[in-house]
Amino acid sequence: MRIDSILKERRTLSFEVFPPKQEHDEDLSGIRGTLAALTAESPDFVSVTYGAGGHNRPRALEIAEIVLSLKMTPLSHLTAVGYTKEDTERVTRALAGMGVENLLALRGDVPADMNFPQDPWIDFRYALDLVNFLSPKDFCLGGAAYPEQHVESGSPERDVEVMLDKERAGVSFFITQLFFDNEFFFRFRDRCRAAGVQSPIIAGIMPVFRAQQIQRIVEISSCSVPVQLNAILAHYADEPASMEDAGTDYAASQIAELWRRGVDGVHLYTMNKSRQVLDIVARSGLRKKRFPLSPRQGQETSSQETSPQ
Ligand code: FAD
Repeated sequence: MRIDSILKERRTLSFEVFPPKQEHDEDLSGIRGTLAALTAESPDFVSVTYGAGGHNRPRALEIAEIVLSLKMTPLSHLTAVGYTKEDTERVTRALAGMGVENLLALRGDVPADMNFPQDPWIDFRYALDLVNFLSPKDFCLGGAAYPEQHVESGSPERDVEVMLDKERAGVSFFITQLFFDNEFFFRFRDRCRAAGVQSPIIAGIMPVFRAQQIQRIVEISSCSVPVQLNAILAHYADEPASMEDAGTDYAASQIAELWRRGVDGVHLYTMNKSRQVLDIVARSGLRKKRFPLSPRQGQETSSQETSPQ
């Protein structure tokens, strides 16, 4: 099913998985088990990432196929960096042939440890170029958004202009970079709506289960870590079970507040962990709130409410 059609009917809960390393899950039975467990929450869609550079892109295709075989809707990430129009044509033809209807069109980054034999920006320089290339084809397209500003963008306003360009070119929903402080999201959403962005903006939430994770998360996302989360990380640094429990609670309360304040959708970065993710959804109270299905209307968009966190 197309995600834009789903979003016309209701607010969404979705999950993101990534292709596990070959040596950890050669035949993909591990990720198949994870995905089968995640069906318990009837996610509206499941997105499948891969690292820019693309060495695990074939496995991402296989995982999209598993998502479909489990009767869920896949959203395949597609990056621009390093690819030609011909490569992209080949992959999109394969995806369409499998029955994938949704693509998240991304620029990608040049991996620090990778030497491209030539200019990595071959046919596409920005995500927008990829969107323009893909739009005439029959896919529902999503784009990335950054509540705390993309590292290379000159200003928060510039980020919103880029979103408007993507929307005009055919993007019909956005998924945000992870954030740990909901106020960044609410202020960002207000800015987008004031500037005229009309597409649903789905909030990306990444749980922190291990104190050691945080440095890497900040490195890849440039997100800020609020005082309260820092205190949890410091307090439970040497107590893995308590850290997982506190991290689960933190993500659950972020989600509960986002839902209460009318978010269009919540996208959970699962890190391929089903038990912990199902626990977060249960603690957030979302199951009760999602069914019967919640229409996207009558949203409270005030940024003035106080956070329960
Ligand atoms: P763009 O929209 O092209 O923006 C990149 C930068 O260029 C921004 O600073 C923007 O302001 C600027 N810009 C855009 N257009 C122009 C223009 N015309 N002129 C000048 N400047 C411009 N990476 C992966 O490798 N694989 C994944 O699976 C993946 N999944 C992701 C999922 C989500 C939800 C998000 C938020 C990110 C994901 N990423 C992934 C990371 C993403 O590739 C990086 O954040 C990348 O740096 C930017 O991608 P983008 O699509 O936002 O790029």
